[in-house]
Amino acid sequence: MYSGFLIAFCYIYVTYGLTTQEYDFIVVGVGSGGSIMAARLSEPPNNWTVLALDRGAAPHPQQQQDDDLSGLHDPNYFSIAQNYLLNRLVRNPRYYGIGGTAMINGMTAVAPSRNLLDQLWPDGWKWNDLFPYMLKMQNHYCYYLPSALTGITEEDCKLWHGQSGPVDIAPPLYNQMPELLHEMMKECDQNVGFMNDYDNPNKQYGCYFQQQFRSPLNRSDPDSPTVRESTWHAYLDGISRTNLQILDSATVLKLIFDENETTECIGVLYEYKGNIYKALVKKEVILSAGVFDTPKLLQLSGVGPKEWLEPLGVPVVADNSYVGQNLIDQMALYMAFETTEDIPSLPWGADTSGWLLNSGLNKNNNWTDIQIYSYSKYPVLTLDFPITGYDPVLAYSQPPISFITFLVFNTQPDARGQIKIQSLSPYDRPQIDHGWHELTEYDISNLQYGVNFIRNMSTNTNWGKKYIKKELYPGNRYDGSDDLHRRLNMCSAYHQAGTCSIGKCTDNQARVIGIQNVRVCDVSLFPTQLNVNPTYTLYSMCEKVADLVKSQYA
Ligand SMILES: Cc1cc2nc3c(=O)[nH]c(=O)nc-3n(C[C@H](O)[C@H](O)[C@H](O)COP(=O)(O)OP(=O)(O)OC[C@H]3O[C@@H](n4cnc5c(N)ncnc54)[C@H](O)[C@@H]3O)c2cc1C
Repeated sequence: MYSGFLIAFCYIYVTYGLTTQEYDFIVVGVGSGGSIMAARLSEPPNNWTVLALDRGAAPHPQQQQDDDLSGLHDPNYFSIAQNYLLNRLVRNPRYYGIGGTAMINGMTAVAPSRNLLDQLWPDGWKWNDLFPYMLKMQNHYCYYLPSALTGITEEDCKLWHGQSGPVDIAPPLYNQMPELLHEMMKECDQNVGFMNDYDNPNKQYGCYFQQQFRSPLNRSDPDSPTVRESTWHAYLDGISRTNLQILDSATVLKLIFDENETTECIGVLYEYKGNIYKALVKKEVILSAGVFDTPKLLQLSGVGPKEWLEPLGVPVVADNSYVGQNLIDQMALYMAFETTEDIPSLPWGADTSGWLLNSGLNKNNNWTDIQIYSYSKYPVLTLDFPITGYDPVLAYSQPPISFITFLVFNTQPDARGQIKIQSLSPYDRPQIDHGWHELTEYDISNLQYGVNFIRNMSTNTNWGKKYIKKELYPGNRYDGSDDLHRRLNMCSAYHQAGTCSIGKCTDNQARVIGIQNVRVCDVSLFPTQLNVNPTYTLYSMCEKVADLVKSQYA
């Protein structure tokens, strides 16, 4: 593979030569984090010159309408065999292209736990440090809809939400929810409490209807049609700046270092339409290539654990042992129940109810460590059916069976994995190991707690007696063994993070340790998993990283 790449590389180099340009900043990856960085660093009054490169395609207008689940943009990142999963591979969907993984994600918008940030995140990244940026990035529906509908008081709205940020947050489709879901939340309210506003850190426990990163066409209409609100859409779509150049289909191959000051990054080498280009940087390269590709690029450039790089023949620029370590992924497990009524499908995630619960299994947690979703059938079948072993009889039943799906997430597992390059070729996939080999008692019991919670709700409550006919999945499959269900069906919650974490791989200003002029802003930066989905926190982190950059070069 390496020699093939080298030949191709030399051919291109000799044939076309290198074209070189210089920019204040180069942003690698125009996904969820990269879109924010490109927009903020190129905005007035600094008007810095920014080159933003993404290896995937430019967005098709249709993709803003809803989700592109075609898999066309998926890099096909699978893990190596995981012992606990009886050697199954974990599928890791991503979206290569402008807009990044927010072009296919579930758009769930939820603030992290204040207690978790305060206890586990490093100085400079605790709740009080990030909260102003949570407000800065968002434009929340509570400013446009009556409290009587949202359940959010005017006072709480002003306290916990922003209105002037670029990212629209849209309400749950209260009026369109079927009675079955409304009643499920009423039942749940009696047991664990219903949250009107789960972003309020004083009340982040219980169940909820989920709000989403969607942009409503009419903000004062709770039933307004919406478009997907990726950060590309929020920060960059329609913006034209002469100092900002965004190139799609441009794959960054590696960082370039100064020949004399060997740890000083001076630019990147990238491939665009078969040609190799060199882009030089006056200030910094910002890595926003995502949880798999940011550590991969660093390692290809000689920044990473020496003992991994040397055997591959990568000249070591900086021995940073944290690059590619600390892969933390939330664990997900599906269940399905036959219902007495069909649940009409609303746009993806707009009919999602959820729970944030504390299993009580980790005595150090004073935040929630389990998240549960309920879904109509649609997304589960589209995304995971071939991978998780989801029951084909159920999927293609004739006449169709009415059912509801629950997804149980262990949000902060003990398990840690790693990302490691396997060759010198930038086109090879890195080796992904989730570290799901011997699970701890906590990781297993946490998932079981969620499974038991849903079973109890479906059998022992008035709601369950009225709406649930029987457990379909796992039901009596696997001879009733929950252990086998876990091993054969547990999959990624798609919230992989932590592979260049702040405070270890980077300093606490997100600058990569051991080299100069390189900063990170994507989910690799997370030092720990959150109790919730990642992007709300990621967006506020990148807003803060952009401010750190601005103050450094002011
Ligand atoms: C199916 C699914 C559902 C999800 N649902 C939710 C949800 O509901 N809520 C939530 O908060 N999170 C959700 N997530 C997770 C969330 O979408 C991701 O964590 C987040 O989008 C990651 O952002 P990022 O900036 O780290 O990377 P990305 O958004 O993936 O951006 C990385 C970019 O870098 C580019 N790139 C990579 N390598 C190179 C290179 N060498 N050169 C140039 N460009 C490169 C890629 O093309 C990509 O555009 C979901 C994820 C998936 C897959």
